[in-house]
Amino acid sequence: MKRYTLIFLALLTTIFPKIVVADVVQNIDASLDALEAAVASKPADVEALQQQLKPQLDDYSQQQKIRFWVLNSVYHIYQSDYNSALEILNQAEALSPTNSMLTSIYLYKATALIGLNAFSQALDVMERNLSRIESLDDVQLKASSYIRLAALFLEMEAWEEIETYANQALRLNNRQNPRNHCYGLLYIAVAKLKKDQLNSAYQQFNDSMNYCHDNNFMMIEAMSLKGIGDVELKRGNVESSIIFLEKALQAYEPFQYQIEINHIHSLLAMAYNRLGKPQQAQYYADLVIAAPSHGINLQYQKDAYKVLAALSQQQGQFESAYNYLNRYQEISENLHNETKAKAYAYQLAKFDNVEKTREIKMLNQDRALYTAQQKVMELQRYKESMALLVALGCSVFFIIFGATMFLQKRKYKRVSELDQLTGIFNRGTGQDLAENLFIDVIARQGKFSVVMFDLDNFKAINDTLGHGTGDWALKHVAQVVRPLLKSRDLFVRMGGEEFALFLPDADADVALNMAEQCRAAIEAINTKPHYSDLVITASFGVTTNIDTDLSLDPMMKRADIAMYQAKLQGRNCVVEYQETMSMIAAIA
Ligand code: GH3
Ligand code: MG
Ligand code: MG
Repeated sequence: MKRYTLIFLALLTTIFPKIVVADVVQNIDASLDALEAAVASKPADVEALQQQLKPQLDDYSQQQKIRFWVLNSVYHIYQSDYNSALEILNQAEALSPTNSMLTSIYLYKATALIGLNAFSQALDVMERNLSRIESLDDVQLKASSYIRLAALFLEMEAWEEIETYANQALRLNNRQNPRNHCYGLLYIAVAKLKKDQLNSAYQQFNDSMNYCHDNNFMMIEAMSLKGIGDVELKRGNVESSIIFLEKALQAYEPFQYQIEINHIHSLLAMAYNRLGKPQQAQYYADLVIAAPSHGINLQYQKDAYKVLAALSQQQGQFESAYNYLNRYQEISENLHNETKAKAYAYQLAKFDNVEKTREIKMLNQDRALYTAQQKVMELQRYKESMALLVALGCSVFFIIFGATMFLQKRKYKRVSELDQLTGIFNRGTGQDLAENLFIDVIARQGKFSVVMFDLDNFKAINDTLGHGTGDWALKHVAQVVRPLLKSRDLFVRMGGEEFALFLPDADADVALNMAEQCRAAIEAINTKPHYSDLVITASFGVTTNIDTDLSLDPMMKRADIAMYQAKLQGRNCVVEYQETMSMIAAIA
């Protein structure tokens, strides 16, 4: 009996300390959970909780300590004390956090830097985080990291990037984690809205609304409802817009998310004003103006002031209309400056990157040149020593052999530069050459235009008439466009059924004219003898360089946006890029 008691006691003493330790660990985790909840929703309790937790810090594991500091920094970010947040995050980073914690640290750092308007530093941090994320093996972690990166790009107003990273997250996540899926859908919708792609924005918001509803992400459902209301207002469907906005308002009620509610109020003010219901418009505009005037609220107040100005004017109160307009103007200017700063930081960071790649390329070229020189010298030495010995016949043989090799090499090089099917430049070579051509043109402050075009309904051609017919069409498109180009123009197959023309020294008129000629030539391709049902057309996007273009990248984007507009306008047409299609115009 005694033996058993002893064994029991021994067991107890070995198990007991473990229980105690596990308990402490759990307690700490529970306290950290409480702190996290307070940081997110009850800032008033945070200080007290922190004081309570600090003395126990010695008992914390390394990762718990890191979590404590990160939460601390988030609290500072919420208090707009970004410098302290950064300091704390640097400390946390030095404690070797786990991969997922490190992602959080980088993202909070970027958030704090954005708060300090240090946009290029923020981008730098995001860039570093991105290269880290790309090397992660954990697919889910990667997906969530991309989602959070997309959220930050949202803050930077970099709409293309939001779409890129949200799409990557969706692909990796593969519907495994509903949270990531839901956020991904929403972000893509917002990017489409900001890029004025209203029809696809509507579709995307609809998807995110349904999916997030089914998976119980009520807040995202509310945001999607608001998004649809916003799209409908922009599309001129004012009554439908109001229905969705009112629904969104209801959906937000449980959360009391004031900033979002202010946004909805400002949209409602605009909608009612457009509907000719001044009382409701006034009611919502007043609500927006009464909110605190900082941060994102300013954006909504700007719109509210505009509505108020219009209302005063309608009532013949010109002095107050004037005052409201003044206020509107003032806020617009501030916001515009901020947007410009963001766009500038963004361009700069991108340019840095392009420069880096170019430097590496140049180094490679230098190295190739050096090797070539060495070879020539070697050959010379070799020739000198052999000259006396080699008979004439031998020389002839070498010359023929050498010449054949040279021609062969040149042929292979050309083949790898060209697209097999159409015989024009492939994307890799074409873009490199175009970039050089562009640098050359802007060095002498000339004009440079980019035309992008994409064949219309090409999938249907493949599907109904077969892939062979598709190939036939691609070849003929290249054949009819080529003779229209000038000697320095570059014609590139960008992939699939998408082509680009790079036109040095072509201003907008020349480029538009060229695009129109190409469009007509493609439409006129005679398909009858081979395929009686085949009609080939293409949609064109055109843009010409502006002062801030330092590489082809922004121009390609603009040409692409314009081409997309051409598709929207019914295809088989040429559209020149307009500022209103861009993000800056979408905000201002
Ligand atoms: P849109 O007018 O909106 O551009 O519609 P689309 O059908 O042209 O666009 P989508 O991108 O859906 O389809 C492009 C198709 O082009 C899909 C792909 O099968 C086909 N394609 C891409 N490369 C080739 C190729 O080398 N040969 C052939 N025959 N088809 C190709
Ligand atoms: Mg197409
Ligand atoms: Mg295409």
